[in-house]
Amino acid sequence: MFVSDSLNVNAQGHLTVGGADAVTLAQEYGTPLYVMDEMGIRENCRQFKASIDRYYGRGLVCYASKAFCCKEMYRIIKSEGLGIDVVSGGELYTAQGVAFPADRIVFHGNNKTRQELEMALDYGVTRIVVDNLDELAALNQLAGERGVKAGIMFRIKPGIDAHTHSFIQTGQIDSKFGLALETGEAMEAVREAIKLQHIELVGLHCHIGSQIFDIAPFELAAQVMIDFLYRIQSELGYTVKELNLGGGFGVKYLSTDEPAPYDAYMERVSAVVRSQCARLGMAEPFVLIEPGRAIAAPTGVTLYTVGNRKDIPGVRSYLAIDGGMGDNPRYALYQSAYEIVAAAHPLGEKTQQVTVAGKCCESGDLIGEGMALQPVQPGDIVAVLATGAYNYSMSSNYNRIPRPAVVMVRDGQARIAVERESYEDVVRNDR
Ligand SMILES: *Cc1c(COP(=O)(O)O)cnc(C)c1O
Repeated sequence: MFVSDSLNVNAQGHLTVGGADAVTLAQEYGTPLYVMDEMGIRENCRQFKASIDRYYGRGLVCYASKAFCCKEMYRIIKSEGLGIDVVSGGELYTAQGVAFPADRIVFHGNNKTRQELEMALDYGVTRIVVDNLDELAALNQLAGERGVKAGIMFRIKPGIDAHTHSFIQTGQIDSKFGLALETGEAMEAVREAIKLQHIELVGLHCHIGSQIFDIAPFELAAQVMIDFLYRIQSELGYTVKELNLGGGFGVKYLSTDEPAPYDAYMERVSAVVRSQCARLGMAEPFVLIEPGRAIAAPTGVTLYTVGNRKDIPGVRSYLAIDGGMGDNPRYALYQSAYEIVAAAHPLGEKTQQVTVAGKCCESGDLIGEGMALQPVQPGDIVAVLATGAYNYSMSSNYNRIPRPAVVMVRDGQARIAVERESYEDVVRNDR
């Protein structure tokens, strides 16, 4: 019926999110409002966990926090037994706030500051993903000062570009992330790391892109990475125990989107890892995966109140809502497509096509163009679907608009996960 199982319709015909009436939520908490379905998040966590257990056996699912991060999300992820990937001191600080286990944290980033590296070491993070040789040297020094060994993974560029629909295997050395295989840079880094006294190389990592619908590029990446593990073992006599295959699993933003089932992904990628290891006579590595949007996106919607309308004959109709690029910059950034429904009659016929505009002082402040929608009046509530990832986490105070609240719904009961910002919050750091 909708793009996500978190959504349904109740007896009044209203949209529900996690069993709660969207119209009532908007009345109670105001708009714009982010609404997340807790059981949807848990269900997605369980599916990934079950599929890695079933098809591979030895692995850890780490939720990529950047998709949606707040303490309540971390409490849920922690209680599901998943790990997290963090990319900044801010995300790590949030994780520390819920006592997230350090041995289930993977710390990414191409330019972590010394202060962030120190924070990770002091918290005891066991997997710091080192991006380059400068970082390796800094980390070795900081770990030495603390008398500890830093557990690291190297971020590798496997040379697979899966950003397009038909993926390509290219040199793809032009990326700010990671170490290239074909230039010898990656091998050089490994050689260096295993000599360092305060570094323990535990794994290799790759992440080939996002919103990938095909399984084949993931299979190819796994194969390239296993080959590299083997070369390290045969050339340097060193066994790298873990392989982190990253995230990027496609999600259903539109009814027409058909992402591969996550079970199928795990089944095929596990088969590649196992058969390659068998062929090379190598022990199978512990495998990590890092789904971000696949866990969060389908479980969230954003509720807005309809405002002014502008019909430009022969051109288009603008429908303005009380949020915009401040709470969802994804259309402005990369023309991401979403579906929108009238919260009071989401199954009604979509009789119009509108350009949904925000209230920011920017012509590009759009949620979407040519969006099909039921008839609505000013004051009605509309829901933009599958906004659970990269919306709240990418929000800003552009135009000094306070960020919306996030409510978490469980079995129809809502609770605040993140308070709505006030004007006072907006000026808090002003002198
Ligand atoms: C962004 C990112 C992810 C998650 O990507 P999704 O498309 O949200 O699954 C995982 N790992 C790394 C290293 C990333 O940068």
